[in-house]
Amino acid sequence: MNPNSDFIPFARPALGKEEEEAVLAVMRSGWLTTGKVARAFEEEFAAFVGAKRALAVNSATSGLHLALEAAGVGPGSVVVTSPYTFASTAAVARHLGAEVRFCDIGAEDYNIDPALLEEIIKTEKNVKAVVPVHIGGNPCDMRALLASTGRRVSQGSEGFAVIEDAAHSFPSRTREGMAGTLGDIGVYSFYATKTITTGEGGMVVSNDESLARRMGTMRMHGFDREAWDRYTSPKASWYYEVVEAGYKYNLPDLLAAIGRVQLAKADRLLAERVAIARRYDEAFGGIDGLVIPPRKADGSHAWHLYSLRVSGEGEASESARDSLFAALQEGGIGSSVHFIPLHLMPYWAKRYSLRPSDCPRAWAAYRASVSLPIWPGMGEAAVGRVIDRVSLWARNRGR
Ligand SMILES: *Cc1c(COP(=O)(O)O)cnc(C)c1O
Repeated sequence: MNPNSDFIPFARPALGKEEEEAVLAVMRSGWLTTGKVARAFEEEFAAFVGAKRALAVNSATSGLHLALEAAGVGPGSVVVTSPYTFASTAAVARHLGAEVRFCDIGAEDYNIDPALLEEIIKTEKNVKAVVPVHIGGNPCDMRALLASTGRRVSQGSEGFAVIEDAAHSFPSRTREGMAGTLGDIGVYSFYATKTITTGEGGMVVSNDESLARRMGTMRMHGFDREAWDRYTSPKASWYYEVVEAGYKYNLPDLLAAIGRVQLAKADRLLAERVAIARRYDEAFGGIDGLVIPPRKADGSHAWHLYSLRVSGEGEASESARDSLFAALQEGGIGSSVHFIPLHLMPYWAKRYSLRPSDCPRAWAAYRASVSLPIWPGMGEAAVGRVIDRVSLWARNRGR
């Protein structure tokens, strides 16, 4: 077997002729940076998720930074989030001089536990924002979560904002609405491995006009209006005012063009991931020693990740996890581990004197989980090969 030609990557973007043509059209138009195309992408995205406002940004990390800033997070603030997430969910709080408090995940799924969150809200005085993460695309129970926070909203007030890290959960339709539109601000990622991609990029959405306005200003140098307005609106002029020391977080038209095409395909891409997840479920659901990923009964899972869990605890699960990873690698299959909890990371562990056992569920989930390839266009044969490899590993482990 030639490992290069037969290798199944862990992730691969679903890009075609349409994306290529959209990019070429922007290149030929003479306008590369944020303009009409980004504006159209925002409007289409807002309509798709059912939010009043959407702002395209150059990454979800930038979006999370803007969201916390708009929520009034600053020195003296506490931001509560899950340790079972990517680095930037927590890092942006430090960019604003705030402190982070990690709330462990639930026993049933890998999302922040509403009961633990309630305890933290009761005892922690300076909470300015709660950032739930819809991990892997499995949405948090936002109703329980919002109830447990007894949310006192919002910017400039005594209350705190709920900011959804929806980097994994596009599109995820819950009974209450699209994940990412259920708190004060939702933040989506279009990073290369995410469910739709612009290479790098993201979107912040909100139903709150004043939060959206603040994020719009801070996204673009603290200008009172956007570059696009300055150059192309009927009231075009060279005049602008800097009302804040803003950031430079806009998404260029060149990338927004890819995003518009991806958005139009989003449901077809979702259907492909759902079909792969179903095949994995059928294959692994009955195997002793394997635990299929948690999901809600309502079919709201966006299946950004399919994280298989091996049974066992502590070091035993960790060595089983490592051996499954190695077996996949030997079989020419890329896999990954999501996530190394942030409270184990040197920076956070040192800053808050955290031990692994401080968030025991996140630690345990990390030690037992392997994420399998789940990308549109993978093909039946590749899915079959993953299934065969995992099943073979499980049979040998049982011996
Ligand atoms: C990918 C990711 C981000 C950051 O997204 P970027 O667009 O790469 O900045 C934030 N949160 C989570 C949970 C992610 O997986």
